[in-house]
Amino acid sequence: MNSVTVRVPAKVNLQLAVGPLRDDGFHDLVNVFHAVSIFDEVTATARTGMSVRVEGDSADQVPEDDDNLAVRAALALAGHAGRSYGVSLVIHKSIPVAGGMAGGSADAAAALVACNELWGLGLPPDDLLEIAADLGSDVPFALLGGTAVGTGRGERLTSLEVGGTLHWVFALADGGLSTARVYAECDRTREAAGERVAWPRASDPLLAALREGDAKALGAEMVNDLQPAALALRPSLARTLEAGRERGALGALVSGSGPTCAFLAESKAHAKELALSLGAAGVARDVITAHGPVPGPTVV
Ligand code: ATP
Repeated sequence: MNSVTVRVPAKVNLQLAVGPLRDDGFHDLVNVFHAVSIFDEVTATARTGMSVRVEGDSADQVPEDDDNLAVRAALALAGHAGRSYGVSLVIHKSIPVAGGMAGGSADAAAALVACNELWGLGLPPDDLLEIAADLGSDVPFALLGGTAVGTGRGERLTSLEVGGTLHWVFALADGGLSTARVYAECDRTREAAGERVAWPRASDPLLAALREGDAKALGAEMVNDLQPAALALRPSLARTLEAGRERGALGALVSGSGPTCAFLAESKAHAKELALSLGAAGVARDVITAHGPVPGPTVV
């Protein structure tokens, strides 16, 4: 096989509970991940050496060197196999860059799956998950797809059954937000307020709503502890969220560290209507619809 293409979805966090800052600089999290139908595509082609090219939406903001998470993933996989394999990676981006939808992690997961196939390594999912956890907190979920609750840094995952398809609208913002800056702002405001940070716990009502596929209950339960920090760094997002609520979204929240805003709709038709209305309101760079859950990286 000379070339393998893998399609990989974005994620939205349905619950992101951020615990106290740990000694290693990470936070203990409860992170309910949900993969949605916004996809990047990573094509791996056999060659000597490593190279990467990025095309598509905001490609100019993604590094085309060893800092690219997909390249780091390919190098980590080659290291695990103990060989110096070569590959040329071409990434077609549709997932917003630095948008809080884990696009870089998705590309890393896609590169692991594509190179495992291209190089004929045949590594089992557990080995890939182990390599993924070293690459970043969101990479293991990007390998798994569907819907899952993550604990620890978000990397200890349990898959969740969802009782139906959820319909989403995403408002994409101009420019990204740095995940590190958003966490730092969250820590800063908590410290300034003298807040005693509780140990993060999964929300039982949210898990029940997911199980039952009850979009109305889910919309009311979605919560993101990083949202106040994202809004402090990008105040215009408050207007975007409000515009979605006013137009009948069942739930509205900042996705991960933002600045993408996610709105839960009642149905596919409602999502389309909401997207049109939000687009006309001029509160986002672009407004798109998607559904979830969808499977993780898939060879196409
Ligand atoms: P998360 O939701 O996991 O916090 P994010 O969606 O906010 O992440 P990403 O799109 O993953 O952010 O990108 C974060 C940064 O990582 C970008 O600013 C970019 O410079 C860098 N990066 C490295 N590789 C990639 C990649 N393949 N795709 C996107 N960004 C990448």
